[in-house]
Amino acid sequence: MKPDVLIIGGGLNGAALAIALARAGMPVTLVESRPLDTFTAEDFDGRAYALSLASKRMLAALELWPSMADEAQPILDIRVADGRPGEGAGFGAVHFDHAEIEEGPMGWIVEDRVVRRALIDRLGETPGIDIRAPARVVDHQTTASGAEATLESGETLRTGLIVACDGRESPTARRAGIHRIRHDYGQSAIVCAVAHERDHGGAAHQLFLPAGPFAILPLPGGHRSSIVWAERPALAARLRNAAEDEFLAALRPRFGDFLGPIRLAGKRFVYPLSLSLAERMTAPRLALLGDAAHGIHPLAGQGFNLGLRDSAALAEVLVEAARRGEDVGSPLVLARYGAWRSFDNTTTALAMSALDGLFSNDNPLLRLGRNLGLAAVERLPALKRRFIREAAGLTGALPRLLEGRPL
Ligand SMILES: Cc1cc2nc3c(=O)[nH]c(=O)nc-3n(C[C@H](O)[C@H](O)[C@H](O)COP(=O)(O)OP(=O)(O)OC[C@H]3O[C@@H](n4cnc5c(N)ncnc54)[C@H](O)[C@@H]3O)c2cc1C
Repeated sequence: MKPDVLIIGGGLNGAALAIALARAGMPVTLVESRPLDTFTAEDFDGRAYALSLASKRMLAALELWPSMADEAQPILDIRVADGRPGEGAGFGAVHFDHAEIEEGPMGWIVEDRVVRRALIDRLGETPGIDIRAPARVVDHQTTASGAEATLESGETLRTGLIVACDGRESPTARRAGIHRIRHDYGQSAIVCAVAHERDHGGAAHQLFLPAGPFAILPLPGGHRSSIVWAERPALAARLRNAAEDEFLAALRPRFGDFLGPIRLAGKRFVYPLSLSLAERMTAPRLALLGDAAHGIHPLAGQGFNLGLRDSAALAEVLVEAARRGEDVGSPLVLARYGAWRSFDNTTTALAMSALDGLFSNDNPLLRLGRNLGLAAVERLPALKRRFIREAAGLTGALPRLLEGRPL
């Protein structure tokens, strides 16, 4: 049978979209070039994601949250400051307390392997998903009446709509002639877990250092945190392979001693950081979603949250169109998705770039301005509450899934 939707890429976003569509009765084929079991291997990906309250509601609506809940750390506090290695935070700092909004914690930290395991288990259990993995799409064509993708094996898959979830280099978007805005941040993120003596109390820390942002994200149990340390690429590469003592000696002046003595609690991973923003989110019989539409700076941990917002919006648009008997790959239907998501994606991507540009330098004048700005925000409760609601993903026109409601 010809599936309604063919999803290229079974990463976090492709998997979440497949589950959302199939649960609403829309058959999908999901093509992923890697074997799915490699995603949950211990050394596959060291990231831990800050998932907003709205993302958690969506994961709950898709029945994914119960298998993550025990391994998710609520974020009770976020502290943002400007600083220098070894000197700690400057005089301006903002403290966002989850108690300032009535809905509960503004987000949760969940490790990549936990999210992937939940997605892969649910993919296998959900009727209506034809999983092709490992299988690579090498070409695709679209006509006014349909689309087809060619696999490396030579097999051709026909569909009404292709959704490209194939990551920030999206070969599918490139074949469709969609240009990208690119910017190299000149930073790489070192990611690893760190064990510490004192309890983190559910607090996440974002320190802006001259070489780039440095985040400490609390992990379950109280005595482990995940760090995301943006550094100059050459230093990041050296630190990944440095002996543990040398690595910790470089880390301590940035991490500080407020959590007591620290040690490494896992492998180090390095991710080069760049902006890769598609100029449009749709083309004939094609929609882009997740990093394929917007690969952004991880500052503030928004990437996967944005992808879930795309999935929630696209699933709602397609399911409603199908219920009305519309062709789900028609230009009118795709235009609704583009109109819903383009503004949020572009403004978030550019805001992350602007923040990185403003903070990642050692200019004394800018430093003074930043500290004055942070100190001013700290004294404005209404503005702080607005930022917390933004971080929780509660602003804007929310699709049903992000409110925790089924499609
Ligand atoms: C250091 C760092 C920290 C981050 N922290 C956070 C955070 O705290 N919170 C947050 O929300 N986000 C965070 N992000 C962002 C988040 O990791 C990404 O937005 C997300 O992983 C993107 O998922 P995706 O499925 O869109 O793309 P990808 O993960 O790139 O998946 C694309 C998939 O497509 C497959 N594929 C590619 N080509 C083909 C083909 N031709 N045929 C078949 N399959 C194909 C690939 O194998 C891959 O599995 C962070 C990112 C970084 C770098």
